[in-house]
Parts: sequence; structure tokens; C-alpha cells
Amino acid sequence: MDITNITSFVPPIRTLMGPGPSDVHPRILAAMARPTIGHLDPRFVDMMDELKALLQYAFGTNNELTIPVSAPGSAGMETCFVNLVQPGDKVIVCQNGVFGGRMKENVERCGATAIMVEDTWGTAVDPQKLEDALKSHPDAGLVAFVHAETSTGAQSDAKTLCQLAHQYDCLTIVDTVTSLGGTPVRTDEWGMDAVYSGSQKCLSCTPGLSPVTFSERAAARIKSRNTKVQSWFLDLNLVMAYWGGSQKRSYHHTAPVNPLYGLHEALVILKEEGLENSWARHQRNHLALRAGLEAMGLSFIVHESYRLPQLNAVTVPTGVDEAAVRQRLLQDFSLEIGAGLGSLAGKVWRIGLMGYASNIKNVMYCLGALDTVLSAMKAPINAGQAMAAAQRVAS
Ligand SMILES: *Cc1c(COP(=O)(O)O)cnc(C)c1O
Repeated sequence: MDITNITSFVPPIRTLMGPGPSDVHPRILAAMARPTIGHLDPRFVDMMDELKALLQYAFGTNNELTIPVSAPGSAGMETCFVNLVQPGDKVIVCQNGVFGGRMKENVERCGATAIMVEDTWGTAVDPQKLEDALKSHPDAGLVAFVHAETSTGAQSDAKTLCQLAHQYDCLTIVDTVTSLGGTPVRTDEWGMDAVYSGSQKCLSCTPGLSPVTFSERAAARIKSRNTKVQSWFLDLNLVMAYWGGSQKRSYHHTAPVNPLYGLHEALVILKEEGLENSWARHQRNHLALRAGLEAMGLSFIVHESYRLPQLNAVTVPTGVDEAAVRQRLLQDFSLEIGAGLGSLAGKVWRIGLMGYASNIKNVMYCLGALDTVLSAMKAPINAGQAMAAAQRVAS
């Protein structure tokens, strides 16, 4: 590439209603533009302590080992697996979408065996199937599952799954990347042992950070390993010397200083609103969007009883080129919605209402834009109904 004419990158202004990243709150962007200071500066260290306390609030935990991993959600996932899994272990992985498949990959790359408990995409993890697997594999030491499957919009019953795992002496690894901040995540109450999330979904921060939290049981298992953690960067024994409590911090890696300002601000915003209020807001806006989409004639692929309010997966009307619709939405409305993943590719759209983006303005904007584009394409929908239906629910 000839670099002569390259100048500053100025991104377009979008409305982000896909599976993440979601719209970033302007307060967070402003926080990230503040001056960079040293990552061992006492003022920065104080900020890190506040950040830990705010993360404990968001996760619903008193776990001492609660930190943001300096990398995206996938690194939080990997942190949980590489620290808790040793070669030769057996891990039960519940899969009901794309991200459960990545858990399997993680287990195998740790030199362990994954026992798969499969559920149909779009449904929740079936506790009965987990119990059957626990019974037939008494030597398994861990159960892993995704709380909120972003690939389908289904939410599993984390409390019940964790209870079962503990009954059979297993610890749990739970993916809360899409749930944290949007729907209840009660780490201590539900007995989740290793939990990871992401900054760019319902926390509305920029991508690139992964909050994690580990129970005392999990921390004890990490300390008692008889093999070294295969990843130097993600080894929590080392990371803790950097993030740890009162003792003097020692250099491990340079923390992403400005992104951490952003996460701090995101969590302050969450605390100001209140977790319960945030969950209620996500539900309210989901109901308005749902009314509009259903009035248009689109249907949800996930049953109401375990449908995520922050990730709405709906079927593409017959004969419609789903990619062309998303392209028009982006071009004409600067609006991003998500495509289907894996076995749902080409069949569904995934409309996110995450964090700051979960508001009635976005609901109306998305319904209006979708109605306009689909009507122009002469798609088989009930044109002109969606916004009125949403309005009836919202008012
Ligand atoms: C987005 C997501 C991830 C991965 O997070 P990245 O920040 O993209 O690495 C993992 N699990 C779930 C459920 C997700 O939605």
C-alpha cells in the first residue's frame, strides 16, 4: 500500500445494535482521553483498587481475586481455562451455541478431555443432561457453560447448573460476557467459581478488557496446581502480584492505562444507575423492540422463558438476502445489526440492546430503519406497523 496519502483515521458515527461492541457512552470516551500516567503511579494504583471494588459490585461477589484481564473477553475465557485445567483433567462443557465450542477448544489445548453436553442452538442448557454427564463422569473436576449465548440469544439457568456441579464436586467456569450489566449475574449467591466477562457488551466500554472473578475454592485450586500454567501472560499466580491486595505491586505487564480509565467510568455509570435499574431498563427496551419486530412479522428463535433482553435473534423473512439488508442499514442509516453465526448464518439477525445502546431512541430507530429497508425490498412483512406497536408497549 502506498502510504503517501494516508492521514488520520476518522471513523463514521454509527449506532451499534449488533452482538457487540455496543455504543460507548460519551463519558467513557472522555475518560479515556485523559492524560496517561504511569501504571505504578500511586494515583493509578488507587484507581485500580476502586476498579476492583466496582467489579465486585457488578459481579455480585466479595471475591478477592476480581480483576480486569488486559485483553478481550476471549482472553478472560482463556484465563479461566489455563489456570483451572491441568493436562489429563476431564472437563464437562455444555454447548448450546458458538461460545461453548470455544470452551471445548480451550480444554483440549490445555491437554485435557472435554466431555460435551450438547443442546440445540437457541435453547438453554438442559440441567438434566448435565446431571447425566456428571453421573457418568465422576472423575470430572470442572463444569463450563455460557450464561448468555450471544450467538443465539438464549440464557441458561446458572444457579441450577452451578448447584448441580457442586453436588458432584466440580468447580464451575461461567461465561458472562453478554450478561454482565444486562441481566442478573450473582456470582456468590449462585456459587459460580470462575467467571469472565467483556468490556464491550452491556458495560458499554470499548473492546479489549475482560473482567474476571474467582471464588476462594477456585483460587485454592490454582495455588495447588502441580504443573505450571501453560500461559505466562495469563498465569494468575503472576498477575496477582501486580493486582494483589495491600502488598507492594510488582511489574508484570504494563496495564492498558487509558482503557482502564474507561472501564472505571463504565462501572461508575453502572453504579450510579444501579444494577437492578440497568437490568430493568434492558428488559423494558427489549419488550418494546419485541413488540415492533413481531408486529412486522419477524419471529424470535428463542423461547420467551429463556430469551435474553440484550440479544434479540429473529428470523429473516423468506426470500430476503439478509446481508443486503444489513448493508443497506449501515449505508443509509449508519446502523449496525448482527448476522447469524455458525449454523444460524444467513437465517437470523441478531439485534443487540446492550448497555448504553439499550434505550427507546435506538429501539424506534432500528424498527423504523428495518421497516424502511425491508419495505423498499418488497419483503413479505407487515409494513408500517412496527413503530406503533413498540410505542404502545413503551408508553
Ligand atoms: C463476545 C463474546 C466473547 C468473546 O469476547 P471478545 O471480547 O470478542 O474476545 C465470549 N463469549 C461470549 C458469550 C461473547 O458474547
